[in-house]
Amino acid sequence: MEELHSETQKAEPEPLSSSKIIGLTGGIGSGKTTVAKFIEEFGFPVYYSDERAKDIVNENDVLKAKIKELLGEEAYDENGLYNRKFVGEQVFSNKDLLEQLNEIIHPAVRIDFEDWVKKQTKYLIFKETALLFELKLNKECYKSVLVTAEDNIRIKRVMDRDSKTYREVQAIMEKQMPEKDKIKLADCIIYNNTNLEDLKEITEKIIFDIE
Ligand code: ATP
Repeated sequence: MEELHSETQKAEPEPLSSSKIIGLTGGIGSGKTTVAKFIEEFGFPVYYSDERAKDIVNENDVLKAKIKELLGEEAYDENGLYNRKFVGEQVFSNKDLLEQLNEIIHPAVRIDFEDWVKKQTKYLIFKETALLFELKLNKECYKSVLVTAEDNIRIKRVMDRDSKTYREVQAIMEKQMPEKDKIKLADCIIYNNTNLEDLKEITEKIIFDIE
């Protein structure tokens, strides 16, 4: 009882900024990066979590040391750059190792994001991340926006973009959270099954409707 009492009296953490954070997500090939670029065109800042993570693994020495400790020296090449291919091969079919790697990388991205938020002044700011719901980051956002499209359309787009085979894209897709679960969790949904003009129009409507 005593504990419960002190718990209820705990002060709310200070917000990092007065901006409202909107989480923007979608599975592979859904079009979330394309939507994010439109959002920037409409004048709102976007934090690209997955892109930033790629930079952070090369910029942060403490992180580098931890990753080498987990995966070995080969995690970085002779120029000291993150060896994405090697790391990918190590973790692709080793769930435990992937979890441990994520436990190193995700907190660093979180800190980087918080630093970014503190610098923002717009009333709406966006965080693009593939793992919004998986990492429960939606709980830290004012609203969540999901970009989705039919599986076949997404696969075709990624095949064209990355010259991957149908099976390769499908294998990645199968490892991600099912679309139906994401749809249940999202506050707003952008269905990206047609063309870029439609996508831009829907994006504009959704973001200017956020209250
Ligand atoms: P990933 O998670 O794989 O990085 P993503 O969700 O960020 O994917 P995008 O990179 O935005 O997806 O889109 C995937 C590909 O599909 C890109 O080449 C993009 O230009 C194309 N694309 C997205 N939406 C449309 C659309 N409505 N019409 C035509 N092409 C599209």
